[in-house]
Amino acid sequence: KNFAGAEVVPRHEITFSDIGGQGAAIQELREALDFIRNYQEIKRLGIRPLKGILLTGPPGTGKTLMARAAAGYTDAAFVSCSGSEFIEMYAGVGAQRVRRLFQTAREMAAKQNKSNALIFIDEIDILGGKRGQTTSHHEYDQTLNQLLVEMDGMKVNDKVRVLVVAATNRVDMLDPALLRPGRFDRQVKVDLPDRQGRLEILKLHTANKPLAEDVSLEELARETFGFSGAHLESLANEAAILAMREDCQAIFHRHFHEAVDKVMMGDRLDRRPAV
Ligand code: ATP
Repeated sequence: KNFAGAEVVPRHEITFSDIGGQGAAIQELREALDFIRNYQEIKRLGIRPLKGILLTGPPGTGKTLMARAAAGYTDAAFVSCSGSEFIEMYAGVGAQRVRRLFQTAREMAAKQNKSNALIFIDEIDILGGKRGQTTSHHEYDQTLNQLLVEMDGMKVNDKVRVLVVAATNRVDMLDPALLRPGRFDRQVKVDLPDRQGRLEILKLHTANKPLAEDVSLEELARETFGFSGAHLESLANEAAILAMREDCQAIFHRHFHEAVDKVMMGDRLDRRPAV
């Protein structure tokens, strides 16, 4: 960690093939990223460079994974942070952090000899909520303004070209200024996986685990309607833990079954209203 709270990932370990059940979203994201890869062509034709992509959808569906894969795909230095890190009690601190974030991204790219940098901002709604709605949130406004200033200042001829990928599950909360052309003008929906998607994700997360012969991932995919990728990852992990508790050499179907209940319970507890 070098920027206050921002995680600087050294190498992009994540690729699109690590993401299950998001074929359409990945396709759309790839098309947008191809713009960046064809930078010379963009410049020649005078096309406005793509500066921001907004990933929308419920928690745990793989938005962070997509951003990491996007950095790998565009050979970009990757810097990630969350909208909540910009909220401070003192005026100007959030805005200063935004400036530092962009600076860090450019420095990282230069250090890694890359001409692209990708900044991932999770939970952008926290810093990019509609401005001027409550007087006590003046600080948020300054932070959001600074983000707009940074994005507007990005030019096609910059030594390091920056792409901002942001994630939210409350796109309706965002200040419309963020969605204007030249800012986050590309939106990619990352929804909960369907049955086939859940199967793909289960396969990914059990690939490194010994499965007993009675395990049917197809059946589990059918039974986990409404589960996100994060739920399914947790399901595979819980099943393995249950198998270990019983000293089993492999994970049996009953372990997965029990884990389904556990994950569903855990989720219900997570959703207790915040105080
Ligand atoms: P949040 O909005 O809560 O930050 P997110 O959409 O960014 O969630 P991730 O952080 O990408 O979700 O996912 C959390 C974890 O869940 C991942 O590290 C991965 O293990 C698993 N996961 C989520 N979605 C997928 C997917 N589509 N394929 C494979 N694994 C997934």
